[in-house]
Amino acid sequence: LSSPFDVIVIGAGAAGLMCAAIASARGRRVVVLDHNDQPGRKILVSGGGKCNFTNRAVTPAQYLSANPHYATSALKRYGPADFLDLIKRHRIAFHEREHGQLFCDNSAGDIVAMLLSECGAGGAEIVLEAKVGAVTGDGPFRVATSRGTYEAAALVVATGGLSLPKIGASGFAHALAGRYGLSVVAPRPGLVPLTFTGADLALMRDLAGIAVPAEIRFGKARFREALLFTHRGLSGPAVLQISSYWLTGQSIMVDLLPGQDAAARLLERKGQRPNAQVETIVGELLPARLARALAERAGLLGRPIGQSTNAALAGLARLLSEWPLVPAGSEGYRTAEVTLGGVDTAHLSSKTMAAKSHPGLSFVGEAVDVAGWLGGYNFQWAWSSGWVAGMSV
Ligand code: FAD
Repeated sequence: LSSPFDVIVIGAGAAGLMCAAIASARGRRVVVLDHNDQPGRKILVSGGGKCNFTNRAVTPAQYLSANPHYATSALKRYGPADFLDLIKRHRIAFHEREHGQLFCDNSAGDIVAMLLSECGAGGAEIVLEAKVGAVTGDGPFRVATSRGTYEAAALVVATGGLSLPKIGASGFAHALAGRYGLSVVAPRPGLVPLTFTGADLALMRDLAGIAVPAEIRFGKARFREALLFTHRGLSGPAVLQISSYWLTGQSIMVDLLPGQDAAARLLERKGQRPNAQVETIVGELLPARLARALAERAGLLGRPIGQSTNAALAGLARLLSEWPLVPAGSEGYRTAEVTLGGVDTAHLSSKTMAAKSHPGLSFVGEAVDVAGWLGGYNFQWAWSSGWVAGMSV
């Protein structure tokens, strides 16, 4: 008996639906399998329900991977302008926010509806609540599920990363890659709030709710965006971005006055307002509660700035512009927006997304060791890699 399908896609998320839409438009008979009862659940919760679906300025520099060149070809062949064409063709209203981020005006549901309509146009079949069991063979592949067994010459794995397990994320792709002899770059949570302990945590708890513009650095990576103090530590876009680069046990550097010379400013004010308390002077630059906490940490709380030694003020200036903090950890996959690591790109073709050793087996989207910055980059990778696989299967 011949199989009614040419292509099996596992995962009805961003990359899987894009792949199915493109492959089916090329006349391939496609079935998409997902264990959830609804396709695109992560798309629906993304971007605060408005889905930051891409970014105006996408280059490989905004991605982390053991092979930084892997994403280049796919991003070039199917970039933000191509996805925007699709959005416009479906008359989806959208707007641009800071840093070139593009969001839906109405709802992320518009994106899911668009992808389902594209899949429908090509006749791709979507089978939900399909618990996937054994995968065997090597072109043809056999996929046993709770909704029957499927067979096809090509198998595309689009099951995403480990982030947000409560809406169906799983390590399926990593495990399957292992069974086909492909290595996996150790996964870890990215774009995630950082947690602290001890005196740092006590200070951050006191400041919970305060947001300030800051620059956070780790190695060569630096992000100038909002920093938010929380009951667990630090969050906000600058922290989420740096979390993807941060390595356990090492310190991040926080600059609360980016672009300003904190030391010069303190000495200048010492001359101008010698009787003003240190926290009052810092409070000219930062929220009062934060200014107090930093003055206290520098041992200068309540002290007139004119009576503070230049050495003590230099210490305070360092706290203001290069505050080293060692995170205890991160909030983990429960809140991480992305999974770093994944199927090792060394085994995959950047031109087709297929495994070099198993040409019928492809991996796309977040399952692969490519993770983007905050700002629409992860969806763009899902669209680009899904498109490339859809064009190749
Ligand atoms: P997914 O979209 O996660 O799809 C994977 C699919 O596979 C799911 O439908 C899942 O049910 C299915 N699946 C998983 N395991 C199995 C299994 N064992 N058997 C069967 N099916 C399975 N990125 C942006 O660019 N912009 C944003 O605004 C944005 N906001 C985000 C907000 C949140 C809260 C989170 C968690 C992430 C956000 N991201 C955002 C990241 C983005 O959602 C992902 O990078 C993207 O969805 C990855 O696409 P994917 O197709 O690889 O995986």
